Amino acid sequence: MKPLGPIPPYFDERDGELAIGGRTASALVTEAGDTPLFVYSRDAITRRIGELRAALPDRIRLHYAMKANPYPELLEFMADHVDGLDIASGGEFEQAREAGYLPREISFAGPGKREREIFAAVRAGVTLNLESEGEAERALDAAKTLGVAPRLAIRVNPSFELRGSGMKMGGGAKPFGIDEERVPELARKLVDAGVNWRGFHIYSGSQALDAEAIIDSQANVITLAARLGKEAGVPIPHLNMGGGFGIPYFERDSALDIAAIGEALELQFGNLPEILRETEFALELGRYLVGEAGVYLTRIIDRKVSHGITYLVTDGGLHHQLAASGNFGTVVRRNYPVAIATRFSEEPSEEANIVGCLCTPLDRLADQAHLPRAEIGDLVAVFCAGAYGASASPSAFLGQGPAREMLV
Ligand SMILES: *Cc1c(COP(=O)(O)O)cnc(C)c1O
Repeated sequence: MKPLGPIPPYFDERDGELAIGGRTASALVTEAGDTPLFVYSRDAITRRIGELRAALPDRIRLHYAMKANPYPELLEFMADHVDGLDIASGGEFEQAREAGYLPREISFAGPGKREREIFAAVRAGVTLNLESEGEAERALDAAKTLGVAPRLAIRVNPSFELRGSGMKMGGGAKPFGIDEERVPELARKLVDAGVNWRGFHIYSGSQALDAEAIIDSQANVITLAARLGKEAGVPIPHLNMGGGFGIPYFERDSALDIAAIGEALELQFGNLPEILRETEFALELGRYLVGEAGVYLTRIIDRKVSHGITYLVTDGGLHHQLAASGNFGTVVRRNYPVAIATRFSEEPSEEANIVGCLCTPLDRLADQAHLPRAEIGDLVAVFCAGAYGASASPSAFLGQGPAREMLV
């Protein structure tokens, strides 16, 4: 038997079934028309953001990193709950516009921005977080052609990294940001060129569950930003401090202590270097805001036994849930939180492997899981499906096509 990850605290039981936003899994599937289905809960997102804002200093602005989940209705919903949006492509910019975000609420990071993406952003007045000196030149050229002052910030590649983070995006050679020692010269040059200078973006990692590691990294970010600003002799109107707040996916993962992070930030803010006194501070979060609010529902199509092992074969799989299958940035495959949604109140009584319908041994949703006995037609719920699910999985693989999605 292998343990399952912890079920997030935002769901209940109703009529013996898993309920999301007060409605049973089978009712949601009936409304959507079929499985597989991603369901995202407004209530879970609202609660999460409320808890976070209560823990953090008022001065912190919350940005949503939309790559976590760009589902149009969810993106629109987030617009009323966050203070800014972080995008990383021209395609995301189009989606953000359609969802009603204003260009001045948007910042655009990410390596390899193409000329047409830079033009569109500069023309609209989106903040570009510059990832290289070459990109800075291209942004200045675009601004000259368009006759506007571009909103520009520099993404710094810091020499430190976020300890314990799942994906490292700072420390040493990286495709992201500009090495910290080269930042002052570029910042000076941009300010001298008369751009609408926005400040710095310092992002050092993702999926950290250790509050101390995040607190250290935030202290480092503040120190580094102040030093770079002083060296360059430029103001820092805005500091995007990154994010990196993780969520518990696996057994023994525990929820991040946001109260500790909030208290540490409050202390930092009470004792800021002169150059940061008027600065606007932002955190950019993806999975922490939406990851635990999503559930992936898939139906059991077959139940079979091979060499004494029970397999529950579903109509879903890694083409929608690459991360839960263990194939999206994990070294050792572990089980996500998973349940039989239509038998949510029943006690576990057997050990089974839940697999997807793809013809590859990589397509696993749960290994050796202790579950209530499930039959063909039952629904399986995979939790923590609100981030890096639908849009981060190869839905065209094996001609399967995308899952349905709904916000409830
Ligand atoms: C991916 C990314 C995020 C969001 O990461 P989460 O782990 O989902 O919070 C934020 N900022 C940048 C620059 C990113 O690349």
